[in-house]
Amino acid sequence: MNISVLLIGSKNFITTFLERYETPIVAAIESTSKAEIIAGIAQNQPDIVLLEADLLSILGLCCEIKKTNYLGLVYCIAIEYYCSANILEREPSQHLLETAKAIENSADAYLQFSGLDSSINQNIEAEKRLLLAYLQVAYRQVQQYRELLKTNDFLSSIALADALTDLSNRRALEWDLPRQVEKARKKNIPLSLAILDVDYFKSVNDNHGHLVGDRILQLLAYRLRNNIREQDTVFRYGGEEFVILFQQTNTDTAMAIAHQLCQIISETPFNIDRNLTLSLTISLGLSSLQPEDDDRGRMLLKRADLNLLKAKSSGRDRVVG
Ligand code: GH3
Ligand code: MG
Ligand code: MG
Repeated sequence: MNISVLLIGSKNFITTFLERYETPIVAAIESTSKAEIIAGIAQNQPDIVLLEADLLSILGLCCEIKKTNYLGLVYCIAIEYYCSANILEREPSQHLLETAKAIENSADAYLQFSGLDSSINQNIEAEKRLLLAYLQVAYRQVQQYRELLKTNDFLSSIALADALTDLSNRRALEWDLPRQVEKARKKNIPLSLAILDVDYFKSVNDNHGHLVGDRILQLLAYRLRNNIREQDTVFRYGGEEFVILFQQTNTDTAMAIAHQLCQIISETPFNIDRNLTLSLTISLGLSSLQPEDDDRGRMLLKRADLNLLKAKSSGRDRVVG
């Protein structure tokens, strides 16, 4: 089992555990300070923590672990050593109630093992077996979570990427734009946006076929991505249209970048293959965030789109802002 286990509790708890249970432990944290323990878990990144049950109610430790975003998947097994001298005096319901309390305190499992006095040490082998069984359950769960996270990351990347150009797609823009608007307003910084459309792209398809059209879009996407700044993002908006978000950028700077892009595209033809080189131009409509604009960035997009129409109707191969 390739799994990392962290042991947390008092000195007594840790020593007894290590002497008895032969479980592979990556590290032990001997502390009763919640901040220290959480920092120790974050540092060791274990799959499972085995912790002294008292820390559950005293520190609310499992609740804290589960609600800490990057630790939420850690499997928590609480262990209590009961005192064999008291075992006969216990109400039969006591064990059930203590288990319930541990689970209510966000533990994934609760084990009661024989106490530090050695009179009932005949239980140790059974305890080892039960512990191993719980570790296996935890291992399976951790594996399943990891697989789910991987799948989730993979699906998110597919859902937000454009298959042809590998740029972020329109869905990604719809997710990102409101966040950029919010950020710009909160930090009182400018935000600009361009809609870019390839001029007479239909004629590329008509004259050279769709595969050449596709190749042009890939080369164009590559060129756009390589000619914007690090803080800018280019999205494929649909068809032969792209949106560029210029973060922390006023109209004048966005205008200068847009002019540069226009020039780079028109001056450098696209090499499709050894026999085919095509020249293209693009038109861009620009807009910058205004105080009266809506929170989702719709008006920002709409103004850029109107400016794109003006760029088209006034002759193409230009920027209107
Ligand atoms: P304008 O200068 O007015 O923008 O003219 P245009 O020809 O670029 O505009 P129009 O809207 O008439 O045509 C856009 C073309 O883009 C039509 C469509 O077939 C093509 N297109 C859209 N998406 C793709 C794609 O993924 N691959 C290819 N090859 N063509 C595409
Ligand atoms: Mg178009
Ligand atoms: Mg076009």
